[in-house]
Amino acid sequence: MSEATLYEKSVPGRIGIDLPALDVPEAELPEDLVRADNGLPELSQIQIARHYLKLSQRNYGVDSGFYPLGSCTMKYNPKVNEMIARLPGFAELHPLLPAASVQGSLAVMFNLQECIKEIAGFSAVSLQPSAGAHGELTGLLMMRAYLADHGEHARTQVLIPDSAHGTNPASTSMAGLTVTEIPTDGRGNIDLEALKAACGPDVVGLMLTNPNTLGLFEEQIDQVIELIHGCGGLVYGDGANMNALCGIVRPGDLGFDLMHFNLHKTFGTPHGGGGPGAGPIGASEQLAPYLPGPIASMQQGEVADKAAYRLQMPERSIGRVSTFVGNFGMFVRAYAYILNHGATGLRSNAEHAVLNANYLRTSLKNAFPVPFDRTCMHEFICRGKVGKSPVRAVDISKRLMDHGFHPPTNYFPLIVREALMIEPTETEGKQTLDAFIAAMLQIAQEAENDPDVVLSAPHTVPVRRLDEVKAARKAIFCDPFPDAEFLSRPS
Ligand SMILES: *Cc1c(COP(=O)(O)O)cnc(C)c1O
Repeated sequence: MSEATLYEKSVPGRIGIDLPALDVPEAELPEDLVRADNGLPELSQIQIARHYLKLSQRNYGVDSGFYPLGSCTMKYNPKVNEMIARLPGFAELHPLLPAASVQGSLAVMFNLQECIKEIAGFSAVSLQPSAGAHGELTGLLMMRAYLADHGEHARTQVLIPDSAHGTNPASTSMAGLTVTEIPTDGRGNIDLEALKAACGPDVVGLMLTNPNTLGLFEEQIDQVIELIHGCGGLVYGDGANMNALCGIVRPGDLGFDLMHFNLHKTFGTPHGGGGPGAGPIGASEQLAPYLPGPIASMQQGEVADKAAYRLQMPERSIGRVSTFVGNFGMFVRAYAYILNHGATGLRSNAEHAVLNANYLRTSLKNAFPVPFDRTCMHEFICRGKVGKSPVRAVDISKRLMDHGFHPPTNYFPLIVREALMIEPTETEGKQTLDAFIAAMLQIAQEAENDPDVVLSAPHTVPVRRLDEVKAARKAIFCDPFPDAEFLSRPS
């Protein structure tokens, strides 16, 4: 099914545009600018339009269909947010404009900080970090700075449950700290006894995702936080995903000292294909002075009856973690999302995210075993194993593509064998969920009765199975700077 390239379609002399008649004297181009061998394809405009449209149709996004990628939260991004972010007053700002001329934009930043403070129960928020992982690194650097200020230089250990997202241990290493892994107990909570044993004078703190990546609320969260505070450590919340908590539980009230928030998971901003993201970080009163800056602040009444906004560095700030103010366009989108939904809308989103996940869990659990089977939050884990069938989680995912669905997250969290991590989000209706359930149940039947059709899937998409072993063993790295001497290259 491979598409001819633009080069293969090229016909000498064919041209895609009409240039206007020359209205200046014709001149020879300098010889070194003219290359006979540039080999550019020659095509008509309609050929080019069709070529790129076809390529775009091979892409799969949340606008093309159901995308139940657990932990990643691929919820719909309302188009009104895009319209607002593109208003020239926001989109065409120069980051060096003086505060007096960008009061409206500073107000957006200030108000978004206030909203996140209120939603999460924190004293202060910085919008600086550009992603979830970036928020984690920021939080760990803040914890280090806080402990150093209190003479606690000997603390190096960060406790992380074995169910954690891979970014947690990675951020810990980047912050120059060491990971101590804590096991999960039989109910899918962090193991309290193991946590107790790990608590001591060398502990920086705990990095905890709640609900954890099994999609379960930590049932002993109060005891967990007490234990960590009891040994002089701090509690960092990985709040990449607030979809089950928003408007219901405030992490600050639970006792978390710090937490980041992925605007692209909870507050409707696009994931952006690796492009600009935002992972604001909130802090309790004692950690707030260490937040990265600048953050937006407001002074009442400097101009008669008008608030004045400006950018300020927190007192003991760890400094900047982004250029200028961070990814401003994402702040506009998230603020629009929060205003558009309001307090009741945000709470209802969380309730529907949890309802949808539980509807899928209970509808699928007879066909696909659910470990730690109890009421889940915004996502759940099942096993991609059916009876004695040779079919594995990856095969089920490939077969789902034949039904027009994006696969769930595979093989994560690492503590569940053949894990399929399913997160429907609140933005899907019952019809879509029912179609997904029907597809999954059909695949379960096939796995038992006709496993080959699943093992050889996908059958209907442009790219079939990739050779994943070869891809890992013989990786071909694209070198963006082939002439640069300073880069070391893989041999
Ligand atoms: C997505 C996610 C992260 C990382 O967020 P990025 O914005 O991708 O860096 C961290 N922890 C959890 C639990 C996540 O789901």
